[in-house]
Amino acid sequence: MQQFEMTNLERLNLKRKAAKKRRKRLLIIVVVVFVFILCGLFVIFSGGDTSTGINLNIFKKELNAKTLQPPEYVDEQLIHNGFARTGVKINEINNIVIHYVGNPGTTAQNNRDYFDKPDTTVCSHFVIGLDGEIIQCVPLDEKSNASNNRNIDTISIEVCHPDASGEFNDATYDALVKLTAWLCDNSDLDHDDVIRHYDITGKVCPKYFVDNESAWYFFKKDVQLALDKY
Ligand SMILES: [Zn+2]
Repeated sequence: MQQFEMTNLERLNLKRKAAKKRRKRLLIIVVVVFVFILCGLFVIFSGGDTSTGINLNIFKKELNAKTLQPPEYVDEQLIHNGFARTGVKINEINNIVIHYVGNPGTTAQNNRDYFDKPDTTVCSHFVIGLDGEIIQCVPLDEKSNASNNRNIDTISIEVCHPDASGEFNDATYDALVKLTAWLCDNSDLDHDDVIRHYDITGKVCPKYFVDNESAWYFFKKDVQLALDKY
């Protein structure tokens, strides 16, 4: 039986081995946690780049300016007037703002050309004309100058109208529904994120949709119906 009894030295050696094992296990845990933290930081600072397969911005209404190109039915005629188009970047789209041009009978081209005059300080991203034509005046990742401090996180659409009532004709209305639905779909928004200039500043714009709340309600409903088809 004598041979199974441990000497003090053997006991000490066993204790040392156990302590070494514990240290090794702790080190592995620390390294794993560190790698996880490093991966997390990488994903956060890379903005949840989809190329990594992880997208943290899934709930954020963020515009990916590199990939978001207007649909082919939009006529791109960017303005160059630096007072109206300041070049300030938009990082996020939270609302689509509807306006009326307030100048009965004018065309989308008339209004786009007005925005580009050297002394004009206002502009919108899009103008929709009386035949349903759509002109883009400002890139989607740049601020327009259509309302106030909300220009920085909104896309603006000016809409032409035949008379002083401000009511849109069918061609114009249909184009407005189509473009608004497309913008909502591509900016992670829904019909409740479509607002009037009136809702921001109280200005009677777009006049017909301010004077007729039910028409505004049905317009937003039409946007949602178009969105549902996507
Ligand atoms: Zn307006």
